[in-house]
Order: sequence, then structure tokens, then C-alpha cells
Amino acid sequence: MADSLYVHIPFCAHICGYCDFTKVLYQEEWAFSYVDKLIEQLDGLDIDKPLKTVYVGGGTPSSLPSDLLKKVLSKLSTYLNKSDYEFTIEANPENLNEEKLLIMRECGVNRLSIGVESSHLKFLKLMGRAHTFEEAKEKVELAKKCGFTNITVDLIYGLPTETLEDVKQDVVALLSLDVPHLSTYCLSVNPGTSWHNKGYKEMDDEDAANQYDLILNEFRKAGYQRYEVSNFAKPGYESRHNLTYWHDEEYYAAGLGASGYLNGERFTFTKNLLSYLKGDFEGEREVLTAKDLKEEFFLTNLRLEEGFSLENYEKRFGSSFLEDYKEQLETLKSDGLLVFEDNLVRCTDKGILLLDRVLISLFK
Ligand code: SF4
Repeated sequence: MADSLYVHIPFCAHICGYCDFTKVLYQEEWAFSYVDKLIEQLDGLDIDKPLKTVYVGGGTPSSLPSDLLKKVLSKLSTYLNKSDYEFTIEANPENLNEEKLLIMRECGVNRLSIGVESSHLKFLKLMGRAHTFEEAKEKVELAKKCGFTNITVDLIYGLPTETLEDVKQDVVALLSLDVPHLSTYCLSVNPGTSWHNKGYKEMDDEDAANQYDLILNEFRKAGYQRYEVSNFAKPGYESRHNLTYWHDEEYYAAGLGASGYLNGERFTFTKNLLSYLKGDFEGEREVLTAKDLKEEFFLTNLRLEEGFSLENYEKRFGSSFLEDYKEQLETLKSDGLLVFEDNLVRCTDKGILLLDRVLISLFK
């Protein structure tokens, strides 16, 4: 059975133009009913053993008022394996304050993810974010004062008109926050978002790759190790919860539009708030075929710097990776995309940049 739980809080104080997460504009009466339904749903999951990781994401979990935040977090704290756990919550600078930070600490939250996104006011405004970099910096300091040592912040690159110099300044600003974990994502413009409707375009691949390279090099120079395509950590601060996903392990889920993975089945709860509030949580379910399971294994594990071990592959699929993929492995190795050493198969730096090419070759 699973050791991890993802919980989704869909409310946001404002809606960002590029966002394609499951989210709704915060409304007090909805938030109160939502938290009641969420607790009902959690009770129905029958989680019968202490969990190693709990992750509260969104939306913006910190948009909940203090009393509701406390209700959700106190409930979630009862699931933790008290001697060894990671309990993460996402927060946005504009609705994080000392009272909420102390509630988080009191309920056992030991990892905080703050949405910083950019150090440039013009890009924060363009994205529709409601904070400045100075405010984000103040909240990081406040979180440290309240006892958080495990903090992660994220950065979006590949924004319209963004230059390498802009990204360089972002990197300097992010490093000045002095937190042990950093994430970075290239902006994608997805159908259904207001940016897509307005005709915004994604940065071309070569420029985006140059920006990623700059970030990678600067973060490495500053002592952060890349352990997953988009994630960098000082030793010991890798996200245990997210590693569950990348190791392709099962996990519980609860909340509007939340996705989980249990008993070989992937599922996503309804994204319709009114259905959710009526207690009709069902959404989509997908039983994975043998081919799906193998593709998911590569898709997740090859995002990791360490890749996967031959033993792990054999344990999962009952055959040898070297025999199953003999031809592909030779080509990928000679193209400098994949390496095989010490019983581990992993992407090179070039392979991580061209991950789609590696995956297409293994999916054949
Ligand atoms: S990016 Fe974050 S804050 Fe903005 S709308 Fe999406 S979930 Fe809400």
C-alpha cells in the first residue's frame, strides 16, 4: 500500500493567465464547504497506516483563512508517521503571514514551497502574480523566523520577451534567498488558458534550452545538485514526496481534480467544484496496461539524475532491460543521450535536454 498522500486545495486569490492547474477564485462559502467535503473524502480513503509523505498543493493552499487551514492541516497531521515524515505545503507570498506559518509548524508541516516565479516586476505582472520579489523575500525570511529550515522556491523561465540577462538576474535573486531547494519550469502555453486564447507563444526550443543551461550551471556552481530535470537541492533536501512520483510509486490523493495512483490504477477526481461539493468525487479512472506501466516507468525514472537500476527494472517487469532494449540502448549510448554504469541506466545532460527523443526510442 501507498506511503504518500497528495491533497489539493483549489482556491486562489487571483488567477494567473498561464495557469492550467485545477483552480477556482477564492470564495469564503465555497472554501468552508470544500474543507468539510475534503475531510469526508479523506475519511473514505481508509488510510490505515502512518504515511511518510503528505503534500498539500493547489491552487494556493495559503489562500485558506487561518481557521480552515488549521482544520485541514490538523486532520492531515493524524496520518503522519511521526518518527519519519515529510509534510509539505505550497504557499504564495501574498497570503502567507506569521499566523498561518505558526499554524503550519504547530500541525507538523516541515517543508514549505513558496511560489516566487520571477524577480522581475514586469514578468510577475505579465503572469498575473499578485506579489513582488521583495514581498517573496520577506516571506521567506518570515518562514525561517517561524522555524522552517526546509524551504523550496520556484522560478519560471521561457517567458515572452525574456532574455538570458533577465534569467541571470533571476538566478542571482533566487540564490540570495538562501534556501536548500530550488525548482525551475519552462513556461508552457496550454489550451484553455487565457494566454493561449490571447495567442501567446512558447519560447522556441533553442532559446529555452539556453536559459535552462544557464540556470543549471549557476545552480550547480552554487552547490545545488540537480536530482530531477526541474529540481535542485542541497544534499539531503531532495523532495521525498516528489520522488514518490519519479520512482513511479503509488500514492493516495484527495481534493478537487487531484490525481492518485493505487493498485495499478491511475485516477483523477472530478474537476467540477459543484459536483465535488455535493460529494460526487468520481472523475476519470485508467487501469494501466503492461505497455503503459513500462512507459510510465521510463517517463518518471529517466527524469531523475540517478536514473534507474537494472534490479529495479527486473523486479518490476520480470525481464532484463539490457536484453529488452539492446538495440535502442546501443543507439542512445552512441548518440550520447543515455549512459549505463554501475548497474544504473540514466540520461546524460544532453539526454535530459532531449528527453522526448530518448522516450520515443524506448516506447517503440
Ligand atoms: S499559477 Fe498558482 S496562483 Fe496562479 S492561478 Fe495557478 S494555481 Fe493559482
